[in-house]
Amino acid sequence: MKRILLKLSGEALAGEKKTGFDEETVRKVALQVKELVDDGIQVGIVIGGGNFWRGRSSENIDRTKADQIGMLATIMNCIYVSEIFRSVGMMTNILTPFECGSFTKLFSKDRANKYFAKGMVVFFAGGTGHPYFSTDTGVVLRAIEVEADVILLAKAIDGVYNADPAKDPTAKKYDEVSIDEVIAKNLQVVDMTASILARDNKMPMWVFGLNEENSIVNTLKGKFNGTKVTV
Ligand code: UDP
Repeated sequence: MKRILLKLSGEALAGEKKTGFDEETVRKVALQVKELVDDGIQVGIVIGGGNFWRGRSSENIDRTKADQIGMLATIMNCIYVSEIFRSVGMMTNILTPFECGSFTKLFSKDRANKYFAKGMVVFFAGGTGHPYFSTDTGVVLRAIEVEADVILLAKAIDGVYNADPAKDPTAKKYDEVSIDEVIAKNLQVVDMTASILARDNKMPMWVFGLNEENSIVNTLKGKFNGTKVTV
């Protein structure tokens, strides 16, 4: 693997608190990503916004405006995580699909490639820049655009199951599942828009549990314990 995109949910940053940031949790992620970068792997990061806000959070405000708040939440998350990454010795840059003054830089494929070539971790913040989308779609879109080899989906759950293991004790985890099956059975690896985009552009996704010790590094070093979504 030469270039990977790692997706973290907003809640993953919050630890037990489920909201805001948990520095220890993010530091553990940072140290693992550093190991990959030190091995010469180019790492892009996409982070959700659910630890602050979702477009569906309020029924009383306009959805487009609510989604704008959600996109801004993902930028706050990226600024925070980027700084923790820097504190453990990585170089980073944050790209957004819209201007945020000097806080971030405007996304382009060329710019992303330039930063990757310099050994920087590239944060793709602000989702797609459009309402009614999600950071799931954002990560698949950016992975396709920058020609990543694979998307790593670090989740609260340790893989893809044929039923919800919290509700069904007979639920079985897949070692491998095709994107067609994910879509046909609505297995919710990523949302449907993102799933179709991944299928049509043949972007594989590997799902694993963020809370398992050293799981990000293990995923790329042959000790993978999650589910591979094949395309
Ligand atoms: N969002 C958006 N467009 C995007 C990405 C995100 O409007 O391209 C907004 C949307 O409101 C979403 C929120 O940002 O609810 C947080 O993103 P995330 O993907 O974490 O949302 P979730 O899928 O958990 O709702």
